[in-house]
Amino acid sequence: MEATKEKKVLLKVEHLKQYFPVKTDSFFKPKAFVKAVDDISFQLFEGETLSIVGESGCGKSTTGRAILRLDEPTDGKVYYSGQDILHFNKKEMRKLRGELQVIFQDPFASLNPRQTVKQILNEAMAIQEVVAKPKRMDRMLELLDYVGLPPEALDRYPHEFSGGQRQRIGIARALAVNPKLIICDEAVSALDVSIQAQILNLLKKLQRQFGLTFLFISHDLSVVRHISDRVMVMYLGKVVEIADKKDLFDSPLHPYTKALLSSIPVPNPAIQRERVILKGDVPSPIDPPSGCRFHTRCPFATEKCKLEEPALRELGTNHFVSCHFAEKLAQ
Ligand code: SF4
Repeated sequence: MEATKEKKVLLKVEHLKQYFPVKTDSFFKPKAFVKAVDDISFQLFEGETLSIVGESGCGKSTTGRAILRLDEPTDGKVYYSGQDILHFNKKEMRKLRGELQVIFQDPFASLNPRQTVKQILNEAMAIQEVVAKPKRMDRMLELLDYVGLPPEALDRYPHEFSGGQRQRIGIARALAVNPKLIICDEAVSALDVSIQAQILNLLKKLQRQFGLTFLFISHDLSVVRHISDRVMVMYLGKVVEIADKKDLFDSPLHPYTKALLSSIPVPNPAIQRERVILKGDVPSPIDPPSGCRFHTRCPFATEKCKLEEPALRELGTNHFVSCHFAEKLAQ
């Protein structure tokens, strides 16, 4: 995959694998692994939002966790600003965690219920040593202002806030350490639609203000359409398509992407879109199908699909797809 020339690559993932061992019921049985992420490569450009989408179990959240080394990857490389971070020691990694932040789906679970907002923000700044103690109060008030919370919020506990407000606290905590890259893992999935829109608009505003880069993980294509510059579609641990948002939504090339997009409700009743219903369930990542992993559910599968794994090929400008017959199916 070629980098777009004028853009700076902030994160480069090469042949990333994340396998988790599964218990077998017999000592003599060979070890089995859940191949949650299986040899994926992509790049993230500075200042952009790249979304990762796919059904539950496709490996999108595992990819985020592996990049952050919350789970140590099985294999592959992750370069951040050109540095191979999978070889960073604990001290180097702790320092890097300031620049690489994460916002989770459930802020209630990720915020300490026994800490006030003041303690939560203060702790983040103290760990990363980003703001001197005497200046922290001013910084905390500034952070609350950025995320649209009043100064009184400082002395309150997470349970005293609504879901949307708690997510604002999570965002303030991430901002407290001057991050460059924020991984948003289903960051708005637990919120009502109207609140989702507010948080997405807030993230976009903060991105412009601070030049942030987002890796946005979501199963919700409407949300992805709102926030992304580019979109990467995953299926069963593999990347099946990556493209600029407009290209992906207007001219999807992979049959799986087409099926996913066909499930989004169209606001204009005059526009008819044929719903593609996929047959069967997502196969087990312990024993994924041979060849193209999508062949057990793909309406266009042939013998070749069962035998040969399709490569991720560039078929349009910055539009990559892994399907043997993408050109033919696009006609
Ligand atoms: Fe379908 Fe074959 Fe393309 Fe896979 S390679 S998406 S099975 S047509």
